[in-house]
Amino acid sequence: MTRVYNFSAGPAILPEPVLEQAAAEMLDWQGTGMSVMEMSHRGKEFVSIAEQAEADLRELLDVPDDYRVLFLQGGATAQFSAVPLNLVGDAESVDYINTGSWSKKAIAEAQQYTQVNVVAEGGKGDPMAIPDRSEWQCDPSAAYFHYCANETITGVEFPAIPDVGDVPLVSDMSSTFLSRPLDVSRFGVIYAGAQKNFGPAGLTVVIVRSDLLDRASSRTPAVWHYHRQSEADSMLNTPATYSWYIAGLVFQWLKREGGLKAMGERNERKARRLYDAIDGSDFYRNPVAPDARSWMNVPFVLADDRLDKQFLEEASQAGLKTLKGHRSVGGMRASLYNAMPEAGVDALVDFMAEFERKNG
Ligand SMILES: *Cc1c(COP(=O)(O)O)cnc(C)c1O
Repeated sequence: MTRVYNFSAGPAILPEPVLEQAAAEMLDWQGTGMSVMEMSHRGKEFVSIAEQAEADLRELLDVPDDYRVLFLQGGATAQFSAVPLNLVGDAESVDYINTGSWSKKAIAEAQQYTQVNVVAEGGKGDPMAIPDRSEWQCDPSAAYFHYCANETITGVEFPAIPDVGDVPLVSDMSSTFLSRPLDVSRFGVIYAGAQKNFGPAGLTVVIVRSDLLDRASSRTPAVWHYHRQSEADSMLNTPATYSWYIAGLVFQWLKREGGLKAMGERNERKARRLYDAIDGSDFYRNPVAPDARSWMNVPFVLADDRLDKQFLEEASQAGLKTLKGHRSVGGMRASLYNAMPEAGVDALVDFMAEFERKNG
């Protein structure tokens, strides 16, 4: 068996020990004679898996007691609708900042339900940047303020949690969730699809502050109704049981690896190594302003895009896979999620230097 270095933006690389444990438990989970996939979600075995996953996630993120953790389906895209449906309440409008494609999609969905005030437009131009906080046209009576913490496609990441006063802060953290420590108490709602940084597709974690649970529109679909799902322990209907189980194994792996502080240090080293290599050459370029550069998704272009195809082919032969940039951006993109080992980044940087030497 040969494992490659998989730089996919999502679904993405998972920690090898997690996959090994899942393989070992595939036919018989802890003496039950069943796969987790075959278990009733209401049985005590699966309930214990679900509760352990939530407890481990709460420990990793130090989630305060007045927050509920939900394990839902529908991806982050469902949350683009669920957030306004659950949170607008009596308010007249909501604030969003646009920093790229995923922000834009969230805005378009929210516009179906309420008036959206776009406080600032960023994530465009060269270098791409996040508009300065002093330029944001925020509305203090907005139901909430929404931002995409890390734009997966363009690699634009907020370096810190924005300050929006008393307006509940909502964040799409799909591609940065669990990549470093996070002060959950600053947020009203955090949501993240699992398939970027903590599990298989099909699972979306939503962390919601309890005082926001009583604002949902009566038209909110039951499966995305935060209060109803919270009362049902995220089992109002059948949850994504296998994805939930794998996410739980990832949470245990993160704890064994030293938690989010250790993970953040490792991720910063990985990102710096790649950005340094890009900045140190005239052959490669990253178009994002240094203080908005993502630790998780690093897009880069070659000075001569006629070499793109050859770069991807030779990288693939060297076991460096899925480096093609998003179709809307072109070039390359290396996703460096938690499960990408430092050796994978070293291999990429070495390959890039060698490719430049031969073709530069
Ligand atoms: C991938 C992604 C989404 C969409 O996730 P789905 O699971 O496909 O709905 C939304 N936001 C961000 C930041 C993403 O990276």
